Amino acid sequence: MLSSNSWRALSDELYKRFSSGAGVIFFEMGKSYGSELGTSLFRRAEEARAKAVPYDFSYLVTKAGWGKVSRDGELEHGSHLSIVVTHCVFCEGDSNLEHHCPFLKGACFGIASAMYRREYDVSAKCSLNKKGEHICKFELNGK
Ligand SMILES: [Zn+2]
Repeated sequence: MLSSNSWRALSDELYKRFSSGAGVIFFEMGKSYGSELGTSLFRRAEEARAKAVPYDFSYLVTKAGWGKVSRDGELEHGSHLSIVVTHCVFCEGDSNLEHHCPFLKGACFGIASAMYRREYDVSAKCSLNKKGEHICKFELNGK
């Protein structure tokens, strides 16, 4: 992955050139990336003959250095998932909160779809906390 400065430069450039279309590009990039991660997690869980698919999103995101993650919801079958990323590396330095973190939104969608083998409606909302850190919240509802 890119450093956060390189990511910011790439993001600024794509939004400048493609306007809101950049969000679609980032979402698709995140979805492909997340889908690969989710598929490998699913395989590992099968190999370990685990009964339930472990919902290891926080482990993945922390390991990738994307931010600090908490997740909640119905984790056994993944019918509803709520993911909050504090200090999101993709949004730091982005003054436009209306972008709503499309890469991580796509990654959440890709990981969850691959792990739980289902489709989702996914929404994302970005805001700043009192310390000025970016908080990105994702809601996934299974179809
Ligand atoms: Zn973000």
